[in-house]
Amino acid sequence: MKRAVVTGGAGFLGSHLCDKLIANNIEVVCIDNLLTGDVSNIEHLFGNEKFRFIKHDVTNFIHVPGEIDYVLHFASPASPIDYLKLPIQTLKVGSLGTHKALGLAKEKGARFILASTSEVYGDPAINPQHEEYWGNVNPVGPRGVYDEAKRFAEAMTMAYNRYHGVETRIVRIFNTYGPRMRLNDGRALPAFVSQALRGEDITVFGNGSQTRSFCYVDDLIDGIYKLLMSDEIYPVNIGNPDEISIKQFAEEVIELTGSNSKIVYKELPVDDPKVRRPDISKAKRILNWEPKVSRREGLIKTIEYFKSKI
Ligand code: UDP
Repeated sequence: MKRAVVTGGAGFLGSHLCDKLIANNIEVVCIDNLLTGDVSNIEHLFGNEKFRFIKHDVTNFIHVPGEIDYVLHFASPASPIDYLKLPIQTLKVGSLGTHKALGLAKEKGARFILASTSEVYGDPAINPQHEEYWGNVNPVGPRGVYDEAKRFAEAMTMAYNRYHGVETRIVRIFNTYGPRMRLNDGRALPAFVSQALRGEDITVFGNGSQTRSFCYVDDLIDGIYKLLMSDEIYPVNIGNPDEISIKQFAEEVIELTGSNSKIVYKELPVDDPKVRRPDISKAKRILNWEPKVSRREGLIKTIEYFKSKI
């Protein structure tokens, strides 16, 4: 049986990855310091003999006894609010944490996959964003702690591939949503859905003309798994190209929750990207992957989850 280490395995994406690996008969060692992760995301796996949890901060040396076939590095604060609150931890897990996770993969002869992000494109000057675009990032802005850490992490991953011969993969993850998202992580989707369900005002930042493209978590996890099993070493965008303005998105959430909430406008955060949409032609071509769940379908499932939490 194969064995995988998932850093950040108690997080939103990490926990779904643990489920996916176990469903594919791969043993999982989940490592998380629970800074933004939550045990409730992995509780259902306790007692499963294929699953083990280690509470550990991966910016420190990672020791896992036994053989390991895959290292999936998914540990990081990942919402704008989180990395504004935790700037140093965000920089450390993207840099030191990536170094430690790569070191583990090298030691074990394991394949490594880095969770990178559409944030490496910054406030993009082209739309949609394809993998050859180098981005437009402000290194000294508040988002720089996340963007630059992930850019460093990509460079470090490529260096371990080229210099140490580690088998590496890089996934650039675009906005993703679904069950196990935290209600209060400050992101647009949990904010809008919980505001709508509580009948509170929906807080749209700026005039809401900025765009995002939201991917349902099951689709994303499927794409990441395919990339892990492929032989592509260069970054691959995984996301849903169905682009929508944030104002329209707020209206959609109001409609699907049947809420009476009104939209109110707040100040736009610094360096908030004006557009974001993945070009997924590479993923289609080399992984034969594309998202299957429409935004309405995914939103309905996610609203049900949020209802159970509120
Ligand atoms: N946003 C908003 N209201 C909120 C939270 C976010 O209008 O309560 C906006 C935010 O400024 C951005 C978009 O929604 O333009 C998506 O934000 P999110 O935090 O989900 O992720 P980002 O794509 O910026 O990383």
